[in-house]
Amino acid sequence: MAEILPFRKPKASEKHQGKTLCRSGFHKWKVDKGKVFDVKQGKLVTVYRCERCGAVKNELR
Ligand SMILES: [Zn+2]
Repeated sequence: MAEILPFRKPKASEKHQGKTLCRSGFHKWKVDKGKVFDVKQGKLVTVYRCERCGAVKNELR
């Protein structure tokens, strides 16, 4: 019994999914430089960078 599957296009949406997520505010955060001491604020800051779009955010400790 052979089943013929219809030809499936490669999912273009998968490639765009990341940016869509980023635009929705769901970035793929990764620690960029580890913990940095912010002299101005006198606090430890963790720098995160989004792997997909390169956005940066700081997290104060
Ligand atoms: Zn992003």
